[in-house]
Formats: sequence, structure tokens, C-alpha cells
Amino acid sequence: MSEPKPDPLLESVRFGPHLARNRFWQVPHCNGMGYRDPSMLAAMRGMKAEGGWAVVSTEEVEIHPSSEVTPFIEGRIWDEADLPAHRLVTDAIHEHGALAAIQLVHSGMSSPNLWSRLAPMGPGHQSLTSPSPTQSREMTTADIADLRGWHRGAVRRSLQAGYDVVYVYAGHGLATLQHFLSPRYNHRTDGYGGSLANRVRLLQEVLEDTLDEVDGRAAVACRIAVDELYGEGGTTREHMEEVLSIIGELPDVWDFMVGSWPDDSVTSRFGPEGSQEQYVRGLKALTSKPVVGVGRFTSPETMRRMVRQGVLDFIGAARPSIADPFIPAKVAAGREDEIRECIGCNICVIGDWTMSPIRCTQNPSMGEEWRRGWHPETIRPVGGERRVLVVGAGPAGLEAAMSAGRRGCEVVLVEASRELGGRVAAESRLPGLAEWRRVVDYRVGRIDRMPNVEYYLESEMTADEALAYGFDTVAVATGAVWRSDGVGIHHRLPLAFDGSVPVFTPDDLPDGGLTGQQFILFDDDHFYLGGALAEWLARRGARVTLVTSEASVSSYTANTMEQHKVHRSLLELGVEILAHHVVTGTESGEVGLQHVVTGHPASRPAAALLLVTGRVPNDGLAADLLGRRAEWGAAGLGEVRAIGDAFTPATIAAAVWDGRRFAEELDGRDDAAVFRRNVPGL
Ligand code: ADP
Ligand code: SF4
Repeated sequence: MSEPKPDPLLESVRFGPHLARNRFWQVPHCNGMGYRDPSMLAAMRGMKAEGGWAVVSTEEVEIHPSSEVTPFIEGRIWDEADLPAHRLVTDAIHEHGALAAIQLVHSGMSSPNLWSRLAPMGPGHQSLTSPSPTQSREMTTADIADLRGWHRGAVRRSLQAGYDVVYVYAGHGLATLQHFLSPRYNHRTDGYGGSLANRVRLLQEVLEDTLDEVDGRAAVACRIAVDELYGEGGTTREHMEEVLSIIGELPDVWDFMVGSWPDDSVTSRFGPEGSQEQYVRGLKALTSKPVVGVGRFTSPETMRRMVRQGVLDFIGAARPSIADPFIPAKVAAGREDEIRECIGCNICVIGDWTMSPIRCTQNPSMGEEWRRGWHPETIRPVGGERRVLVVGAGPAGLEAAMSAGRRGCEVVLVEASRELGGRVAAESRLPGLAEWRRVVDYRVGRIDRMPNVEYYLESEMTADEALAYGFDTVAVATGAVWRSDGVGIHHRLPLAFDGSVPVFTPDDLPDGGLTGQQFILFDDDHFYLGGALAEWLARRGARVTLVTSEASVSSYTANTMEQHKVHRSLLELGVEILAHHVVTGTESGEVGLQHVVTGHPASRPAAALLLVTGRVPNDGLAADLLGRRAEWGAAGLGEVRAIGDAFTPATIAAAVWDGRRFAEELDGRDDAAVFRRNVPGL
């Protein structure tokens, strides 16, 4: 018998002065914690190192107050006062044998400098890259010298803080070095503008400064947008090939990405695993230095193919490492089927856009490593024997059952319908959302291997039954129902429907008895579901008018960086979008409408009205049980807790988190833990 071939993913790779222990590279990712929550941040990065990543990177770290992105919370290394927070990070990473990388950024024309009030600057006098009444100022030669000095200083401080890899950053449309390189932004006529050799000059100088400053004590990485996706108006793949012919041998490692952040972190709704391969393939041949690249890689087979086919040397990952910090450890241990695969929902990105600590649909411990002491793979055993009933097998119930099972409880999970998964099972049947099914599959896969967790389908649980079987604890995870009265964000009182137009809610979909060809969909929820249902209906051949009180369709999906993609796909499918309007009721076969700014009324005939507005918890069972507290003692019952949407309708991520919290608190609630936080020292 021949020896099994060594796994290419586990090979060590030399770069700069380092030997990476494998090919897993956690590329920089934002997290909404940054300079504000250093202890939370350090524990999160340390968890990646514990999970086996060879390199663990920071988010973008501002090198100077002229590059600050208030209100967003990123890293800062403005001066030595920032170093203790960075040492927490490097110590946590080193403790588990990984290399720590810092991504230094000067954001230039992407930084309105609202906090520092310094004038933004970039290659030219131009509007900022996001709407703002401020412009960037054209950098003079003196400014360029300043920038190089600030970058050098930040490199020096990075070494003081213990980083092993220093990034020079020219990606995501967010960095001055990219703005200089790009014909889109750089219209200069001096030695830093015009030809590509001139446009690349600043990047080249900063790379040389950085190499000089680290002097072999750290590796230098360059993260760069290999195609800005603006066609000839921006940096193209051909430009990138020329860039590599000039500076291809300068950094110790290249980190390639594509476009702006929404292109790079495309959701699964709009891009599959490995979607950047077409842009990156072949670039590795133009440099002798190792290459990192991303593509929401969750399949070890795809990762191996990237290495075997010479596309990449390092498997870069942000979201896959968030959903499962232990991917490398699982690959090394031959436990690939236990990988908790990212579903590509970008709930993690919402943290950054809303300046709140990162969270993840698949990994409820993300961001809770320090604050609550949660670990993505382990959970402490519960003392003694404990019988737990979980009612409802949506995301909250599945997570509660799995986590209580991991704690060693005897768990019975009952589900009224014929399938496990609750809202996830239903929503993952909508166009583009198939990968969301992984929330169910991962948990069912684990539960199936636990002899102490049983589940029963088609078992609607009543309070009598819950009290009859001698459970110590009951989790009521029965979900929520969509309102059919129109109450939501806009309307606070029920609407009048005269019955002349059939009214549906998402609970009737995708397989409910939906009829009609001319739909009015009233979206007063504004996240993904209204747009996804409009798409589903349109693909079935229905004519759809989507009514929203907001200025744009699915407006909250701006936070998952897919709003413009949702809008485009609906327009391409012929969906009519009626912005700034609300539905006011139905009368004589017509749907009443109103303009939210002018108050102007209107009406339209429709065959059906679909309401995506508010939800109410399905909390009847919880209320029954709580109302019969006097009987608990005789039944041996100690606690009843509504969790997930049955407690408060929210995101799938929130339901999973609440399921985990239920299991964590089986031996007592720990409300104080949420207040563990860093307070700035004076
Ligand atoms: P969450 O997001 O909080 O997990 P879901 O709505 O996704 O909530 O899931 C709730 C699940 O609970 C659904 O699959 C539903 O069929 C099930 N369910 C609701 N009431 C009962 C009940 N009385 N007994 C068993 N299962 C129930
Ligand atoms: Fe992936 Fe969603 Fe988790 Fe982000 S929140 S890492 S996209 S599963």
C-alpha cells in the first residue's frame, strides 16, 4: 500500500524571515471592535490562532489622524499610546503559535476625518469616495513626504507591538496607495501621475520604506486590488500585470483581492465560492513571492485545487475564519465534515457598518470570546444530570439542542412540522439563499452524532405534554409569525382590509397557497426577505410591484453590501419599485397607497397583496407553561425560557446566539457578563 499523499494545505511555506506552519492565512477583516474594544478584539484574534491559522491579521489600522474614518471603528496606531492595545492582540496570537500581521492604512480620500477635523487628502482635489460635503485636497510633494514618514513611524511601532508581518495596503478602494495607482482617481501631471510607472511610484516608495524599516525583522505583505472592476476607467488586470513587472519582487508576499469591499466580500446570493479565481489566476506566475487570495473558501477540496493548480500559495479567509476559526485544526485532524461553513450572509459585515461588535450567523461565539467566555468548539459540561426539552427546531432550537447536548444534557428536540430548520429551511428555498441551509445542516450533522440528543418531527408540543415527561428545563423555540395586519415600522395600528384582495405573508411562502399574477408586495421590513420574495415571484412569472417607504429597495441590505445588487436584479426581472410609498389598505379590489413625503393618496388594482412588515412571537406555549408555574414542582420542572424569535423576532444570527446563550446559562443566568468591557484609561 502506498503512503497517503501529504495534504498540501498543511505544508509549511517560507516567506520573508518566517516559516508559516501551514497555508491558512486569516486576511485582515473589520470587526466593529477596533480601537474601542481591545480585549474583545484580542481574544477573537487569539481564537483564530488557537484554531490553527498560520497567519492572523488585524483589520485596517490607521497610521495617522489624517486617515481616520469616524464613525467607523477600525484599528489605530497613531502613536505609542495605541501600543498596549496592539500588544494584547499580538500576545493572544503568539500564545497559539501563529504569526501576527498588521494591515496599515492611510485612507486619504476615503477618510472624512470627522474626529480629527484634518483635511482629507489624496492624489487630487476630488470628492471623497462616499457622500460628504468635504473634498480631498491634492497632496503636495511635502504631503507625500509626510505620508511616507507617517507610514515608516507606524511600521516602527508595529514592530514594537510585536507584529511579524506588516501590510502595505492598496486595496478595496479605501487606501491612498490604491488611489494613486488608479487612473480613476489619479489625474496628476507630476512624477506621481500619468504613466503607470508614475502612478505606482508612491506604492513602490512606501514598500521600499517599509522593507528598509523592518530590515528583515518582519515580513512585508502587499494587499492590492488586482482589478478595480471599473473597466478601462480604473486599474485593470493588464495594469496589474505591469505593476508586477515593476514591483513584483518587492514585498515578501502578495495578497490579491478584487474590486471594492462589496465585490471582495460578495454575498452567496450574488457570488459563489472562489468567485475571484478568474481575476487572480495567472498572476502568481509573474512573481517569485508567495501569493494569498480569498474567495469565501469553505471547501478544503477547492482550497487544495487552488494550491495544486498554482493559483494561490496561501488560502486567505476572512468570513470562513469568522464562521469557523478552527478550519485549519479540523483539516489537520481529518475532521473536515465538522467545518462550520460560512453561509455568505454578511451579517458579520453589519457589525462594521453599524459600529457594533462583530457577530456571525454560523458562529454565535464570534465577538463573545472575552466578554462572555464563549468558545466556538467547546462548552463546559453541566454539573450532574439534566433533562432538557427544546420545542421547535429552527435556528434557535437547533443551536440550543446542540449546545445543551455538548454540555452533556439529555436533550429531546421536538418539531411540529415535517422538517428541521424552521425559517431557515423555508428561506433557503428562495433564489440565491441556498447556502443558508448550512445553518441547519451543520447543527443536524452534530446532533446526529450525539447519543444524548434525540429529535422528533411532526410532534406539536403542548403545555400538558411538556409538563408530563419530567424535564428539568424547557426551551421554547417556536419562532414567530409574520403579521397580516400591516403593522410594522411605518404603520403602528392595523390597516383596514376589506377582503376584496387576498392578503398573504411570508409564512404562506414559498409553498403556501399563493395565487394571482399581479402582486403588490409591501416591504416594511427592509432587510433581504421582501426583495428575495419579489425575486421569487417574478421568476415564477408574476408581475410584481414592490412598495417601500424607504428611498431604496431592501434598504437595510446596504449593511450587507448588496443593496445595489438586489436593486439591479429586481429591475432586470421587471419588478416595479415604488419607493417612498406605503400600502394603506384594500378596498373594492384595489390596494390603497400613500406617498410618505407628500401624503398623496393613490390606489392600484391587484390580484394579491403580500405583506412583509412586522412579526409577533409564537409564544403561546411559553405563556401556557409560565402561567402554570404552580405545577412545575410536581413535574420536576425548574426553568422555562422562550428563546430566539419566540422571545423577540430578529435575525437568524440572533436566534442562533440566543440558543447558545440558553445552553450557556443552564446553570444560572449571567446577565452581568455583558457588561464586561474596556473603559478608556485617562
Ligand atoms: P427561531 O428563528 O427562533 O429558531 P423558527 O421560526 O425558525 O424560530 O423556528 C421555530 C420552529 O418551531 C418551527 O420549525 C415551528 O414549526 C416549530 N414549532 C412551533 N410551535 C411548535 C410546537 N408547539 N411544538 C413543536 N414545534 C413547534
Ligand atoms: Fe459567513 Fe454570515 Fe458568518 Fe459572515 S456572518 S462569516 S457571511 S456565516
